[in-house]
Amino acid sequence: MNLSSLWQKVLSELELQTSKANFQTWLKNSNLKKINEGIAIIAVSSNFAKEWIENKYHKLILKSLRNLIPNIKTIEYIIDTNLTQPTFKNKKETDLKDFQLSFPEVKIDFETGLNSRYQFENFVVGPSNELAVAASLAVTESPGVKYNPLFIYGGVGLGKTHLIQATGNAIKNKFENKKIKYLSSEKFTNEVIEAIRFKDTKSFREKYRNVDVLIIDDIQFISGKETTQMEFFHTFNELYSLNKQIIISSDRAPSALPEIEERLKSRFEGGMIADITKPEFETRIAILHQKMKERNYYLPEEIVELLATRIQDNIRNLEGALNLIVNSLKYQKLPPTKKNAEKILKKILQPKKIINFKKILNTVSEFYDLDPNQIVSKCRKKELVKPRQIIMYLSKEELGFAYSTIAEKLGNRDHTTVLYACQKISKEIQKNPVLEEEINQIKSRLYKTL
Ligand code: ADP
Ligand code: MG
Repeated sequence: MNLSSLWQKVLSELELQTSKANFQTWLKNSNLKKINEGIAIIAVSSNFAKEWIENKYHKLILKSLRNLIPNIKTIEYIIDTNLTQPTFKNKKETDLKDFQLSFPEVKIDFETGLNSRYQFENFVVGPSNELAVAASLAVTESPGVKYNPLFIYGGVGLGKTHLIQATGNAIKNKFENKKIKYLSSEKFTNEVIEAIRFKDTKSFREKYRNVDVLIIDDIQFISGKETTQMEFFHTFNELYSLNKQIIISSDRAPSALPEIEERLKSRFEGGMIADITKPEFETRIAILHQKMKERNYYLPEEIVELLATRIQDNIRNLEGALNLIVNSLKYQKLPPTKKNAEKILKKILQPKKIINFKKILNTVSEFYDLDPNQIVSKCRKKELVKPRQIIMYLSKEELGFAYSTIAEKLGNRDHTTVLYACQKISKEIQKNPVLEEEINQIKSRLYKTL
């Protein structure tokens, strides 16, 4: 048996005893160079791989080799840079500076505005998004017929853009002739402004009222923009009456959108509403595997689990951390151990932030687009009541303040009012998933570290 077929035999045995990811990353590209006086010389692709194999697979390799050639005494590993490195493909030194750069190339279609990187195939489905995915898939079957509009909402970095673009891409694949337009509500707003400025509202209207599928991302940004809302309302009605599909994403439920006309909200509520919540542990693991597959690099499972444990509420951050670890390990030439990964993560995950009352007041005000002074004031306007109660509730839950302290800080109110508010919100959260999600989002803004 020559060296090469001998090594293939060893590899096929190792393949059975290691995870697929580990095998691909560390072992597949190794090579048996020679056997000299009982010493097997094995070439590996990098220092990185050498350390890893020596630490983790040495015994296993030795055993397999000895099964075939009993007089092997030991193994020496050498580095052969000519061996291809299957991991960290096409990465340059500069990627370190910007982790986002390690995304596969951005491919945006000029006509539709869709990025082909967002597909159903690479969108991991779990309990946190399955309703939204099912509704989106139904829309791709028969656009404009069943769920119109489709309104997808959820917190930052949870996959809204990915999902609505995947829906657009799937429709494009299925119905070649359908005209699809994807854009953010900010872009829509800018175009309304331009159209008015250049007195060209006619061509603006034609542009959007002639499509078969209109996808608007982050609709919350039209809050407070009356002219844009009016234009959108007319576009919406026109498309809707022609059975054209409308897909909208938002960071919150329609009813919770501040400063958006009632008539628009009730349009949004007229179709299918589905939310995306934070992914569970298993889904986070599955997403990490999906991202590693796309980038063709694999980290040991213990690091994958570490990431999924540490970063729970934002998939964009989870992805960012994955890229950071891979790049840092590679360029600092560290073996991929849990310890090293922890060291790298420390830099981006500070301990839970310390928050105070002012932070709660400002975060809640900002979330509901209100002036903090108004919230503290005695004004009894309806739109102020809920945010005020949420502030009381969070001050109790997150800061452990006494009712009287909260009452005093919130414009010298009666402490029984605070007591009532805290109880009311606690109860309401149990029954009302929209409120629960709003409060979760406020909390994640309060504690945002990444
Ligand atoms: P949002 O629009 O809700 O802020 P994005 O759609 O931009 O979030 O998602 C952030 C990142 O997380 C994207 O790179 C996206 O591909 C990824 N992502 C989110 N959810 C999933 C999922 N279920 N499966 C795979 N990738 C996901
Ligand atoms: Mg988005």
